[in-house]
Amino acid sequence: MLAIDPRTVLVVWSALNILFAAILALVGMQARNVKGVRQWAMADLLVGIALGLISQVTYPTSPLVTVCGAILLGLGLGLIYSGIEAFEGRRCRYWIPVLLASLILLNNYFFAHIYFSPKIRIFTNFLLFGSVHALCARALFIRIEQPLRTAYWLAGTSVFLICMLTLARMINVALTPAHEIGMFTASGVNSAVFLFAALAQMSMSLAFMLMINYTLANQLNILAATDALTGLFNRRSLELHATRQLAHSKRTGECLSIMMIDVDHFKQINDHYGHQAGDEVLRRLSNLMQSIVRGNDYLARYGGEEFCILLPGTNEAQAAILAERLRRLYEDLLIPWQQHTLRSSISIGIADTEHAANDVERLIELADIALYQAKHEGRNRIARFSEQSAAPAIAEPTSTN
Ligand code: GH3
Ligand code: MG
Ligand code: MG
Repeated sequence: MLAIDPRTVLVVWSALNILFAAILALVGMQARNVKGVRQWAMADLLVGIALGLISQVTYPTSPLVTVCGAILLGLGLGLIYSGIEAFEGRRCRYWIPVLLASLILLNNYFFAHIYFSPKIRIFTNFLLFGSVHALCARALFIRIEQPLRTAYWLAGTSVFLICMLTLARMINVALTPAHEIGMFTASGVNSAVFLFAALAQMSMSLAFMLMINYTLANQLNILAATDALTGLFNRRSLELHATRQLAHSKRTGECLSIMMIDVDHFKQINDHYGHQAGDEVLRRLSNLMQSIVRGNDYLARYGGEEFCILLPGTNEAQAAILAERLRRLYEDLLIPWQQHTLRSSISIGIADTEHAANDVERLIELADIALYQAKHEGRNRIARFSEQSAAPAIAEPTSTN
């Protein structure tokens, strides 16, 4: 295997890079809101062309090909790093690829024309390649949530492998007599370094695609779980979370309560001030609720102007204290809207697993019944399901955990 001609490896490597560039460009067209894809596609293209040119270099020298190859390789490798910066939401420092390309160019010119030394030239070239890969590895081995971490670490490992191969090549150059050093000497080491570096670089490109894929999946999950207007969880997320939370409560014997919050006469706000004003009221109420819920409470927009807060480890009476606080805070909340100041109130229905229900649908239903009671009693108030007159008739016969 290691007897493969190094030029052949370079040609195949170049072709694979160009293929990956095309695939990344196609991925980028569908993932416009994921940053870094353009830089990676461009990087693969430049590295592909550079490797193609370098594979055609003939000795003693082919200055133009060498110069172009060196510049493109420097720019391409630097752009891989820029892509990682962009992907991570950082500002791209495009001077890094430019600096790298300039250093590679200078290095090749100096040790080919001013102080002729192929040994130092190759050694320093690999030092520069290794440095930029080390920079990439450092940016990829970071703490990040799963499953993105797997893709990050796969890319990081691939880049690290390229660093190690670069180091191996540097050691090999240092130990080889000057007259035996050459890029295309079928020494085995050359072929092995090129072959494994090509494989590692392909694996890096695949890992980038995995990073893009996981990011897109993550963005879709967030979109599917949240409400666009308020940024809160939506009804679907609430039901999923409540089911899990209820199962947990049953296991631990903990009480779980739910508050259903509804803006009073909300339709009038829309009718008098317009739908946008209504939207602003919903956003302000959401912010207020977010500011008062505890870490493991679960706040969601149930629909329209109705919100739910799921309170683990809390019974109706405890939830009522929070509900009353929320009601008062909202009552006092002045919402500036154009030249007006909007002020409204909320009604809150509360139910819990201790007094009423032991399944999610029923729990929400009972909070809704309590909410109806609060509305019925005149609005701007809270109502506990277990305290209303109709409670025993509506509650399930088996109502404990
Ligand atoms: P009540 O005190 O009985 O709750 O009366 P209400 O007017 O608040 O309730 P009603 O169900 O009659 O009206 C709710 C209104 O909420 C009707 C609907 O157009 C409006 N609405 C639903 N979703 C949105 C939204 O996202 N933005 C705005 N601005 N209005 C919404
Ligand atoms: Mg309402
Ligand atoms: Mg309503």
